[in-house]
Amino acid sequence: MKLKLSQFTVHLHDYPRSGNHILYNTLTRAMSSIDDKGWHVLSGLPNTSHEPSVQEWLEALVKNGFVVPQDVDEGELYTQRLEKARGNTDHLHVTLSLIQRCNFGCSYCYQGGAQSTHDGSKITAEGVPGGIKTDEILAFLKSQCEVRDVKRLYFTAYGGEPLLNKPALLEIVSAMQTYCQQREIRWSFGMVSNGSLLNRKTVLELKKYGFAQVQITIDGNKETHDASRPWRSVKGEEVSTYDIIMGNLESWAGVIHTDVLCVVSESNIDAAHELIDTLARKGLAKKRIRMKFSPISPTYDDETLEAVTQNFADNPDLLKAELEIIDAITKLQIHAAQRGLIDDLRPRGTWCNVIRANGQNVTITPDGKIYSCALFIGRNEKYDTGHISKNARGGLDNLMKTFSYPDECKRCTYLPICANCRADSLEKTGDILGANSHKARFEVMLPQIIQAHYDLRQQQSN
Ligand code: SF4
Ligand code: SF4
Repeated sequence: MKLKLSQFTVHLHDYPRSGNHILYNTLTRAMSSIDDKGWHVLSGLPNTSHEPSVQEWLEALVKNGFVVPQDVDEGELYTQRLEKARGNTDHLHVTLSLIQRCNFGCSYCYQGGAQSTHDGSKITAEGVPGGIKTDEILAFLKSQCEVRDVKRLYFTAYGGEPLLNKPALLEIVSAMQTYCQQREIRWSFGMVSNGSLLNRKTVLELKKYGFAQVQITIDGNKETHDASRPWRSVKGEEVSTYDIIMGNLESWAGVIHTDVLCVVSESNIDAAHELIDTLARKGLAKKRIRMKFSPISPTYDDETLEAVTQNFADNPDLLKAELEIIDAITKLQIHAAQRGLIDDLRPRGTWCNVIRANGQNVTITPDGKIYSCALFIGRNEKYDTGHISKNARGGLDNLMKTFSYPDECKRCTYLPICANCRADSLEKTGDILGANSHKARFEVMLPQIIQAHYDLRQQQSN
């Protein structure tokens, strides 16, 4: 059988010393190192020696995906995987915005015009203008479980700040836990919270209903965090939001899995490194605390989005600035992994929920509208995918079923780890079906990640 180097195999030469070459496959996440002789064989594929020892060695590489049969079209195979993912319905992940209000006034939240969606609407037992009733959302969740024959239901409480609507949260999670237990559906829930109202007592109370995971946000050290994530209104004495969140985090650390997200901009990179050291020094790596880093991704209203897209088209420096942030985030990830706050640096394969278009991951707003991604809340109505009161789903899902990967993506090394983010395409090109270019991001990020992962693995095995 003739073999070729997989299009998903990245090769990094002469690391950590001359003559040692690292192979990494973006689909299988396998990593291996080879010497000059091995690289000579691989770089000569599909023509190679037929010595049994070489053939045996190549077959071992086939198992890890580094090499593949010459006639395999990997882009096509990956497209078939997307079709399979589209057909998968037995898992359901519902993210529910319980209230469109927050007790924080974060600078980047206001930046994108998203505050127009922070209109105070909420879900209640009795129903208030602009908000559905808890009974209605429960009926929707149960009907989805039945129609889709769901085996695993994961629920995320979202906002604004979800704990500003704790009565609705308690009603929903207690009812769904009972429902799932009766039907042998695996159930647990998580929350995206600013962390200010989540203390140990609340964590323990929610844990009874299957609370398993929370994501809170800390934007660096006290100074940078308090500047970007202040109280919405300060009454009387000023209290640091950083101090409150850090105190809360330490009180429940170890009880549930916690992701600490740090939103990174050019103004808090050093402070984000400081945060890593602070969490590590407090011993939180051993207490189920893990870190994530993200660039600012505000949700836009239509008018702001149009201006952003135009600005991007007119201003090549914006791409340069974006890559600088990606580089900074990569270095933060490596630092966090070295301090035990990230378990595995290797990027995971991921699907964009919008592209998958099968309602497996949905976000619902207090008015009952369904979105396949929270980044589309507050945008043109054509970007929602239905309403909980209607059986028919469609809108964006129908549009996205016509999406297939452009040829450039089908041939790309990074396809398995590039979600092909539709929100990003819309932001950069104004076209939700359009191509986005994340290649430059991966070129900045992946070699550094491969080196760091290799080094960490070597340290662990020594
Ligand atoms: S968007 Fe760019 S990086 Fe992503 S798969 Fe397509 S070509 Fe590759
Ligand atoms: S549009 Fe982007 S952020 Fe939204 S689900 Fe897809 S990849 Fe994720």
